[in-house]
Amino acid sequence: MKKESYFGINVSPYTYEEIIADIKKRIRSNKTSTIIAVNPEKVMKGEKNEDLRELINSATYQIPDGVGILLASKLKGGQIRSRVTGVDMMERLLQFAQEEKHGVFLYGAKEEVVSKAAENIGKKYPGIDIAGYQNGYIKNNEALIDQINASGAKLLFVAMGSPRQELWIRENMPRLNTLVYQGVGGSFDVFAG
Ligand code: UDP
Repeated sequence: MKKESYFGINVSPYTYEEIIADIKKRIRSNKTSTIIAVNPEKVMKGEKNEDLRELINSATYQIPDGVGILLASKLKGGQIRSRVTGVDMMERLLQFAQEEKHGVFLYGAKEEVVSKAAENIGKKYPGIDIAGYQNGYIKNNEALIDQINASGAKLLFVAMGSPRQELWIRENMPRLNTLVYQGVGGSFDVFAG
């Protein structure tokens, strides 16, 4: 897969459509996909912190969420010409899940936020299978893993801030049956309105 590199951080030069098409193929062959949004703040933090850099670089897609990345790509002769934001990527994935009838699980944020986000997503994408949700302040991680697996969800969105959400994904992915993972920061708050 093509990558551009800025201060040692990988960035994927793909559009929303290309990423969705690729994820569709990966799901068919039972391969997992992870998505992390990259902005200049993460590039700077990642430059200093090897573990964070590894964490970012090990994702399937590092989406260019931030104009700074576009500018850097242009200056260095790269191919990135438009932003691929975390929240818009989530919207595209929700639309994809609705069309393909894949279950979606939301994990993170406060109880009233995640429940409202689930309700609003259901209204915005009629017929979408919200397989389940859980707030980001629970203590029993084992029960959560069981809940996600029992839900049958194919896509999991984790909204706990960065890098907490990416660390959680990396740690728990081996035991999850979910195939698509995106850390979405404060996006549930946006959906909750
Ligand atoms: N959050 C969570 N569990 C935690 C800490 C944060 O679910 O232990 C949620 C928080 O409720 C919010 C989201 O993570 O919905 C983003 O949090 P924050 O604004 O702190 O992250 P940032 O956007 O600054 O990375």
